[in-house]
Amino acid sequence: MAKSYDVVVIGAGPAGYVAAIRCAQLGLRTACVDEWVNKKGKPALGGTCLNVGCIPSKDLLQASENYYRLQHQFGAYGIQADKVSIDISTMIAHKDRVVNDLTSGIATLFKANKITAIHGHGRLLDGKRVEISDPGSNKPKETIEGQSIIIASGSDAIDIGEAPTDGDRIVNSTGALEFLEVPKRLAVIGAGTIGLELGSVWRRLGSEVVLLEALDTFLPAVDQQIAKEAMRQFTRQGLDIQLGTRVVSASVKQKRVSIRHRGKNGEQELKVDRLIVAVGRRPNTGNLFSPESGLLLDERGFINVNEACRTNLPDVYAIGDVVRGPMLAHKGSEEGVAVAEVIAGGTGHVNYEAVPWVIYTAPEIAWVGKTEQALKEAGEPYKAGAFPFAANGRARAMEEAVGMVKIVAHEATDRVLGVHIIGPFASELIAEAVLAIEYCASAEDLARTIHAHPTLSEALHEAALAVDKRALHKVN
Ligand code: FAD
Ligand code: NAD
Repeated sequence: MAKSYDVVVIGAGPAGYVAAIRCAQLGLRTACVDEWVNKKGKPALGGTCLNVGCIPSKDLLQASENYYRLQHQFGAYGIQADKVSIDISTMIAHKDRVVNDLTSGIATLFKANKITAIHGHGRLLDGKRVEISDPGSNKPKETIEGQSIIIASGSDAIDIGEAPTDGDRIVNSTGALEFLEVPKRLAVIGAGTIGLELGSVWRRLGSEVVLLEALDTFLPAVDQQIAKEAMRQFTRQGLDIQLGTRVVSASVKQKRVSIRHRGKNGEQELKVDRLIVAVGRRPNTGNLFSPESGLLLDERGFINVNEACRTNLPDVYAIGDVVRGPMLAHKGSEEGVAVAEVIAGGTGHVNYEAVPWVIYTAPEIAWVGKTEQALKEAGEPYKAGAFPFAANGRARAMEEAVGMVKIVAHEATDRVLGVHIIGPFASELIAEAVLAIEYCASAEDLARTIHAHPTLSEALHEAALAVDKRALHKVN
């Protein structure tokens, strides 16, 4: 007889493992099936995020930023360091150690919460049964069943025919975390989140970096005032961002990648040592469910769910990157918690209006809520206030006085509709803005909140004051 659980979760990324932990905390007998195998060939929990996504990329961003600062910024304080060097294999080993510690940490949490971790590929059958096979094999070895099923199978990098990856010279984001030498010349297809983050890593380490972006608009989802400032800063750092550029073909000859691309100046050839393809990710639904299960996908290939992450099948939920909405770890985790609460008989809810976004470049970019261009397009009346980090004492002392905080609030009600930051620790500063949106705060609420001095958060306070044209440390 099939082993039976209250909940079976497919996928142990930040959506699935968090859902499993919350289910177990709520007293549900929970199994979590995951097929991830790390580069040592061992099962590793944590999905894309912990293994080849958020965590390793932030580790390399930190390493490369430390190296860059020591060389280019510490001189302003009189700190001189001659012959600064970086050992790339030590940097990669540090990243691997952090990944290993964190993925093992999930295994410990599973054990402590009495979650049954099953290593294998899960496939949804009819009747809420899940067939399990060894990763890479189509031979089923076991079938289990759940009163409820949560699918959290995540996403994979999109490949494009014009630049097929070879795992060596032409790679996706996973390969770009493993270079053992700094490429002299590096190209990236796609100037989105991954392109900018990983492009920055290798630029700071010394690569000449060209980003080839198909769209004419840089970071269209970002408030365009912030995006313009970002373009200025990144160009100054030496990232060559070519908008309106389409790759026609890419091929490898004698360890060099030859790229033909078409843009404003017609068709051109570019020769680089490595090419990263970072053109987005697609939902991972390969061999995930049998036709008899009756599970439906939407027109874009995501699992079709309603706002509560319910699929078309009773008691079958889907969360994280495999469903609509931003492909962000924290969005998936929140959906995991909400679904667990519902399965346990409670209520769960995700406020999609209050999902923060962060791009971990230097300066960082972070935002929550509506952009000015979206409000304009919707014809919603708003007022805006901005404050530059150049007028913030802490940012000056940190030698990181670039960028700004911008707040948009409703013209009539003063309710905060969006907060947009480019600057130091924007990733941390955005938390206050998320809380403001979550609590339906007004700009006046933020303006009346005491912010410690001297802190970067004072820029947010000043931007809130600026909404009402009464910022104190700039001319309004
Ligand atoms: P995943 O993390 O993709 O996990 C899915 C898991 O399910 C995997 O372990 C997979 O092996 C397993 N699986 C799939 N199908 C099956 C099956 N049939 N049976 C068994 N197991 C299966 N997001 C952020 O919020 N912040 C960041 O800084 C950030 N940085 C990123 C950097 C990079 C380079 C990349 C690639 C992504 C980054 N992301 C970031 C995005 C983030 O990684 C994803 O949004 C997040 O991992 C999605 O979580 P998930 O649980 O839905 O899916
Ligand atoms: P993205 O959607 O952020 O950027 C892809 C870019 O590639 C876009 O600007 C797109 O216009 C461009 N593009 C698409 N096809 C192209 C082509 N043929 N030629 C040239 N340009 C092309 O996707 P990504 O950077 O691959 O990241 C994937 C996902 O991972 C994102 O959805 C993001 O949410 C997530 N992620 C998040 C973080 C973070 O939160 N800091 C970091 C990395 C990744």
